[in-house]
Amino acid sequence: MSDAPSIAVRAQARVAERAAAGLRRVVREVEHADGVHLRIDGRDLTSFASNDYLGLAQHAEVVRAMQEAANRWGVGSTAAHLLGGHRGPHAQLEREVAAWLGYESALLFSTGYLANLGVIAGLMERGDVCVQDKLNHACLIDGAKLAGCELRRYPHNDVDAAARQLDAAADAPKLLATDGVFSMDGDLAPLPELAALARERDVPLLVDDAHGFGVLGPEGQGSPEHLGLNARDVPLRMVTLGKAVGCGGALVLGSRDLIDALTQFARPFVYSTAMPPAVAAATSAAIAIIRREPERRAHLQALIARFRAGAMQLGYTLMDSVTPIQPLWIGDTDAAVALSNALMQRGCYVPAIRPPTVPSGSARLRVTLSAAHTAAQVDELLQTLNDARRS
Ligand SMILES: *Cc1c(COP(=O)(O)O)cnc(C)c1O
Repeated sequence: MSDAPSIAVRAQARVAERAAAGLRRVVREVEHADGVHLRIDGRDLTSFASNDYLGLAQHAEVVRAMQEAANRWGVGSTAAHLLGGHRGPHAQLEREVAAWLGYESALLFSTGYLANLGVIAGLMERGDVCVQDKLNHACLIDGAKLAGCELRRYPHNDVDAAARQLDAAADAPKLLATDGVFSMDGDLAPLPELAALARERDVPLLVDDAHGFGVLGPEGQGSPEHLGLNARDVPLRMVTLGKAVGCGGALVLGSRDLIDALTQFARPFVYSTAMPPAVAAATSAAIAIIRREPERRAHLQALIARFRAGAMQLGYTLMDSVTPIQPLWIGDTDAAVALSNALMQRGCYVPAIRPPTVPSGSARLRVTLSAAHTAAQVDELLQTLNDARRS
């Protein structure tokens, strides 16, 4: 018999450690959801936590598109894309978004997490170098780990440091990867500078635009377009379909050659059942609404400005964000959790984000706004933030 602790014993100890530090995560059941209204533990709450930035997740037209496609195609896609699972709605969605964003080709994945694993591990090999922003989403980091390539991280949004990292890696094939909008801070990457750097070094730039797609840019194309760039500046782009689009899944966009390579080598694409075709059909319907109703983005931008002005007046510390992600900096973990709980008591759902999701000492309340909110609801949140802090 060995003295090594069993996996179960060790796992339990690690959970206990987290609990002792006040960092244990729990899953909360949402008993009812109607737009921004949630019921949790029997309590009715206004949610400021969702990524449904344009209020499309329960849009009647999107729901109807899903129902009609389910009537026609059934529920399951029955197979991986390469083995008969690639149905009409999947193909149509890939074509539509590629044409809209100006790419030759697109590849559909079941989630954004899998898309990033697939794109990095599908293109990078041992000995290659992947240069990434320190605050990139976990799945970009995990993609590099899965690829077995060398991962080099530069300080957040530090373009000179990114250049040094690229230049230090002599002759290896390289990839530069960044979030377009950073998920816990809400700020934008300096994409024009990063694109110029990548072009000078002849290294492809991959932008994960999970939080920019649908929300930013003149037509909602995303953070590159918001900053005056287009497909030529960003040869590889990942967009998620479960955030502003209100559905689920993700697309990787690029040249025909790169997408063909991913079709061969992106294991999360090759070895996974295609998403239900009705989800793809609903996604196409949601994107049609995004393109045709710019007033959703305008209303959202007005709410963002209203919230920032109000929170600033209350003395809260905002982060540098023009996006619907509007975190309130708290710092101390216990204080952030206490404030989140006090808001919940008063009817507002705003989760506290704690380490290890964010660096230690940088706990925050992560407020997200949606076009489904009214100005009155934003005012209510501000009033509640004021009351909760004073109590
Ligand atoms: C949410 C998110 C992902 C993952 O997308 P899912 O579709 O939720 O798996 C990837 N990157 C960023 C920056 C995200 O915020």
